Amino acid sequence: MTTPVQIAKDIYVIDSQDGGQLERTSIYVIKREKVAIIDTCTSKSVPAILAGLEALHIAPEAVDYVILTHVHLDHAGGAGLLLQSLPNAHVYVHPKGARHIIDPTRLIESARSVYGEKFDAFFDPIVPIPEHRVTLAEHKTRIPFGEAALVLYDTPGHARHHISIYDEVTNSMFIGDTAGVQFPAITRTGYELVLPSTSPNQYNPEEMEQSMQFYESLALQAVFLGHYAAAPSPQQAFSQVRYWTPIWLALAEEAMQEAEAVRVDKLSHAILRVLEEDAEKQGYTGDLKQYVWDDVVVSSQGLIDYYQKK
Ligand SMILES: [Zn+2]
Repeated sequence: MTTPVQIAKDIYVIDSQDGGQLERTSIYVIKREKVAIIDTCTSKSVPAILAGLEALHIAPEAVDYVILTHVHLDHAGGAGLLLQSLPNAHVYVHPKGARHIIDPTRLIESARSVYGEKFDAFFDPIVPIPEHRVTLAEHKTRIPFGEAALVLYDTPGHARHHISIYDEVTNSMFIGDTAGVQFPAITRTGYELVLPSTSPNQYNPEEMEQSMQFYESLALQAVFLGHYAAAPSPQQAFSQVRYWTPIWLALAEEAMQEAEAVRVDKLSHAILRVLEEDAEKQGYTGDLKQYVWDDVVVSSQGLIDYYQKK
């Protein structure tokens, strides 16, 4: 069991051990007079969350809020099961995501169609959340939170059901998947790689850019990523996403010339190639593919989906 790590005043990250991988998917805890958990990962991570709370000396009854950045299963799939252990916790979720956590039938169907036989091992069970425990996170919702507030903002780009959570005390933002994914094992080597997360099926590069401009307008002290923990700096994350986005879009447009059945595969390999070239130029000598490949494939699916709809 890994121990929670403090990353800012009153803010901790619990490693969800998503799919057995360390430093993959973040679960955040803000502990002041009130307690909030941001994102839950899948039901498989519930034991890690409960152990993390215990390590932080937080009783399950003391958790006031579970705030979901968006309803992709690696962020929200475990919320229903977790809520069964947190009797006083209330859920905040984007208005476009709420019905999917209250009745997860569609989430389950679409995950089963993507993951097939692996669904159970990855996600089961996905437990419905009683409607009376759910509040819609409208744009600019303020949650009173001790000496200051948490403020929820609509931040599309990665998904239309995506919010970000602003903490007034630390002037920082929990940005989920809106502006980048990093791999701490790579970051620690000094190679600062942050990739856009362009998963299906609501990726929109213009909206992602607008959300980043909104973040910049706040001159944030820190941004906390869904994958994983704090970015080296907000500006570094945004400039990396802005660097890779046009390169990936151009490669996706090229891949659209290929037969439909091979587009995602061609694009995944093309993206891996440009990433490996960059890593070599920057002097990174580790096994890049081991860390980035799953993300590259899912992002390729989202890019092709984006062009198919265009
Ligand atoms: Zn996501």
